[in-house]
Amino acid sequence: MSWSQYLQDKLIKLDEQTQLRALQTTENGCETWINKHGKRLLNLASNNYLGLAGDYRLIEAAQESAIYGAGATASRLIVGNHPLYEEAEHTIATWKGTESALLVGSGYMANVGALAALLSKDDVVYSDRLNHASITDGIMLSRAQHRRYHHNDMNHLEQLLQQDSENKRKLIVTDTVFSMDGDMASLRDLVYLKEKYGAFLMVDEAHASGIYGAEGAGLGHVFRDSIDLHMGTCSKALGCSGAYLAGSKGVINYLLNTMRPFIFTTGMMPSAVGTVIRAIEIVRTDTVRREALLANSELLRKELNEAGFCIGTSTTQIVPIIAGSNEAAVRWAHMLQEAGIAAIAIRPPTVPGHTSRVRLTVTAEHTFTEIKWAVQQIKAVLWQDGVLI
Ligand SMILES: *Cc1c(COP(=O)(O)O)cnc(C)c1O
Repeated sequence: MSWSQYLQDKLIKLDEQTQLRALQTTENGCETWINKHGKRLLNLASNNYLGLAGDYRLIEAAQESAIYGAGATASRLIVGNHPLYEEAEHTIATWKGTESALLVGSGYMANVGALAALLSKDDVVYSDRLNHASITDGIMLSRAQHRRYHHNDMNHLEQLLQQDSENKRKLIVTDTVFSMDGDMASLRDLVYLKEKYGAFLMVDEAHASGIYGAEGAGLGHVFRDSIDLHMGTCSKALGCSGAYLAGSKGVINYLLNTMRPFIFTTGMMPSAVGTVIRAIEIVRTDTVRREALLANSELLRKELNEAGFCIGTSTTQIVPIIAGSNEAAVRWAHMLQEAGIAAIAIRPPTVPGHTSRVRLTVTAEHTFTEIKWAVQQIKAVLWQDGVLI
């Protein structure tokens, strides 16, 4: 079979499983109301949780830092380490309360790179089964023994830890806010288990950074002395791009020396680094945005609960409506779009089979009126689909 025929067949299979994806242009993605396909939609699909991506202060910071060039010109270990990096990493470490920090191009690169660098095939890694795909990819690349524990199930995790020899090096890794379910990891228990079994603990704060913990420093901030490596993205609540790894001098220096997605890639563009510095300064002091986000999240969950929807275990700004089948999730998302709401259908492999869903996210910028209107629309759509009677 020719390559083109083979690839075409694969796409047809994806389509048959309602798994085919297509890009749709969004003209003004930073806003609460977006234009997609010529339609005006309430944006319940973005990770711009604090509304900072379109903030003039960040756009100004990007412009000001462009004096160092449009690009970094080389890997940071060569000549790409422009002066903003030191300032950014100092800002991150101070905010996170760690000795040291490393800024890298994206959250995906941070997870893949750090896990592949830390783990070897002689090690064992314990990973929540709902962890982000970039964590799974980093583990696969490391060739370490992979133990997936049931979601947030500390008894299962401990059972697995007990089964492996005391002599094995062990690493536990978890999202702190789970990206498709909107619930939180039990960090206190993870710290307890990490200490009991002498494991290394790494946390991914992608959906918590800028929002939870003192000054938005993440859910791991109170446990900072027990967590060995904090990863977080600058691409969600911080409204920019890139990601950080924060921890002791020893761990960060090890990553700087061994992490391939750090070594073999051009440094981030200066304007992106300057924007991160400004974004952290803003989230540390802007309690108004954080409080608005928490109030909006609570209202959305409450309204959906009262309307009788299954929103799983969400306690955050990420609120899924579980559909089950791919077909139902895709149909709901489509119907919601017709009703004026941008919300995305999430299907495997992003979530486990038979748990396809529509994922809603709120930001600090939504009004209570918009959220209540959205829930009315969702009710009408699902009633029309025969889900509610
Ligand atoms: C989004 C996300 C990432 C990847 O971050 P990017 O900066 O978008 O590459 C990693 N981990 C989790 C949990 C995420 O939600």
